[in-house]
Amino acid sequence: MTAQFPVQIALQMPAHSAVGHLLTYAASTRLAPGTLVRVPLGKRDMLGVVWDDPAAAEDPPAAESTLQLRPVTGVLEGIAPLPDAWRRLVAFAARYYQRSIGEIAMAALPPQLRELTAEQLARRLKPPKTAPAAPAPGVAPALVALSSEQEQVVAQIAQSAAAARPFLLYGSTGSGKTEVYLRCVQAALDADPTAQALVMVPEINLTPQLEARFVERFAPQYGASAVVSMHSGMTGPQRLKSWLAAHTGQARIVLGTRMAVFASLPGLKVIVVDEEHDASYKQQEGARYSARDLAIWRARAQGAQVILGSATPSFESWHASRPASEQDPGGRYLRLHMPSRIGSAALPKVRLVDMTQQPRRAVFSPPLLAAITERVQRGEQSLVLLNRRGFAPVLYCADCEWKSDCPHCSAHQVFHKGDRTLRCHHCGFTQRVPHACPSCGNPDILPLGKGTEQLEEELARLLRNVQRPDHEPARVARIDADTTKAKGALEEQLAQMHAGDIDVLVGTQMVAKGHDFRRITLVAAVQPDNALFSNDYRAAERLFCLLMQAAGRAGRDADYLQASGSRAEMWIQTRDPQHAVFNALRTHDYPAFAAQQLQERADAGMPPFAYQALVRADARTQEDAQAFLLAASQAARDAQLPGLDDVFLFPPIPMTIQRVANVERAQMLIESLDRTALQRFLHAWQPLLHQLRAQPQHRPLVRWLVDVDPLAI
Ligand code: ADP
Ligand code: ZN
Ligand code: ZN
Repeated sequence: MTAQFPVQIALQMPAHSAVGHLLTYAASTRLAPGTLVRVPLGKRDMLGVVWDDPAAAEDPPAAESTLQLRPVTGVLEGIAPLPDAWRRLVAFAARYYQRSIGEIAMAALPPQLRELTAEQLARRLKPPKTAPAAPAPGVAPALVALSSEQEQVVAQIAQSAAAARPFLLYGSTGSGKTEVYLRCVQAALDADPTAQALVMVPEINLTPQLEARFVERFAPQYGASAVVSMHSGMTGPQRLKSWLAAHTGQARIVLGTRMAVFASLPGLKVIVVDEEHDASYKQQEGARYSARDLAIWRARAQGAQVILGSATPSFESWHASRPASEQDPGGRYLRLHMPSRIGSAALPKVRLVDMTQQPRRAVFSPPLLAAITERVQRGEQSLVLLNRRGFAPVLYCADCEWKSDCPHCSAHQVFHKGDRTLRCHHCGFTQRVPHACPSCGNPDILPLGKGTEQLEEELARLLRNVQRPDHEPARVARIDADTTKAKGALEEQLAQMHAGDIDVLVGTQMVAKGHDFRRITLVAAVQPDNALFSNDYRAAERLFCLLMQAAGRAGRDADYLQASGSRAEMWIQTRDPQHAVFNALRTHDYPAFAAQQLQERADAGMPPFAYQALVRADARTQEDAQAFLLAASQAARDAQLPGLDDVFLFPPIPMTIQRVANVERAQMLIESLDRTALQRFLHAWQPLLHQLRAQPQHRPLVRWLVDVDPLAI
């Protein structure tokens, strides 16, 4: 009989972490930690990762003790074990975000690894028939001369040894941050033939543009296969291919969205997190991790540099990079500043339109409309932003006050005129628009409020007699989640914008970020006030970032501005022109805004001066949801959990959107001034929550989850 070795395997369990973190199986040979294996679970055959080898230091245990263990059924021999650094990252993320190791590990691997049989996989792993184009060292494309600010920043990053402090590159929109990333990556790759770089962007739609720039820069020297992408818009085979390229070291640069933070990168030397303030870095379902925060942890653990870049850093990063003073040793990060735009392009002039002084009901105030008209006539482009898609957020009956509420959610159904539907943006429930009020029969039901669809229509009407320099009529187009559903649609629409085929683009935040449009000279936010009617303490920060980013799309090309004799403008229509957000925007004064907001947060004991977690419970009734949370906090007190003295448990409350898809949602905030105490508490609490969930009185509970460092409360 062959010797059996017990081995601990991380695998995806049915319910999150209810079964503990790892399962023990028996292997016929010693398996290195990180080895990918297939094991039986119930009736299924699953992918797993060898986590620890408990017998590594001992003789193989007696056969009896492993007899009851189920055997490892297959070893994915074509794939090298995952590196220790990767396992440490996964283990940290699992501990910090209160999930199981198996869940995080499996989510971090490309789905096809889980699905393919050993033979299918073996075929994938065959070396390519034609050898990849041999990299030609020394063949580098001609580089632009760096601006003096870029030069300084690149030098500062180069000087500091690896694994030094994280860098916060605070650079205006259009200051050339991407060029800095390219140089730092170049330096790392040149210094070490096995070095790898990870470059993250917040949104999928920003990856093609970035990929083009990286391929253009690095393909001549390192070969076309040196740059790979990783995001959820890729097919299974594409993701597997990229993942393998990164894991084997063949790919030198991985570009991707938040999921890329978990890529296996044995040679990782530098991580870039572009637009580090962006909320998309926080995963909002399953394991609610922050890819930015994990990037910082990973860089330190793996001895890599990490560069966070933004024109409007998150207050967390801004605070963490505060300079030292007499009373304060300063933050952990090193702040680097690039205030000027490339080519001495000025930042756009911000114009506030006081909507209380404008004709009632005007969506576009006369001066804004005139400014857009002028742009069209000069052949320049404008970008009009509204963060609400559809035609109108709600339909309304003036006779009986009926509103198009979603029957399944505490939210309205949005009116989409194009296909005459009412759609709930929370649960997806879709109906045809009724011909008359369903409640009183009034045939005259009205759209209330504006969405992007209506804005596009209205603008086309208002500009119908306006001509471009080539005497063609003005062209208005729209980009939002509705117009970009088809594969390739977004790329096509962006290409039209870049080619100048569109004069006025109406869009959601999707187009406000990152894009290097060269001919936009006007950006307008028509109803930004909506964003401030929220009780979330981050609402002002988020709006400010969005508007700064949006403003950054205007006037990016100094030569173009000079040639056209135009100037870049950001227009803001508001009923509250004195609001701190708009004031800060007018002066482009992020530091002043951040200082004021951080002071408020310090006074109120809010992040980044405190640490938070949310426990959420979903059930058929609000009472059931809250009962679970009440029981959970009672259980914590009864058990006198460690850390309890240093954390504050708030009472359960309904969530802002209380009901979604017929499920009632409640949440409870946990806060502490001490991150370690909060972590210790959550860690001790988790098993109690699992136990509670199993009790009969909490059977009505649909789900519960913990969100550590939540973005919105
Ligand atoms: P950011 O990411 O800071 O908004 P980008 O990196 O997109 O800015 O740079 C803005 C524009 O300036 C891009 O078109 C880029 O090609 C160009 N650019 C960057 N650095 C230089 C430079 N040193 N010389 C000339 N053009 C540059
Ligand atoms: Zn009615
Ligand atoms: Zn709904």
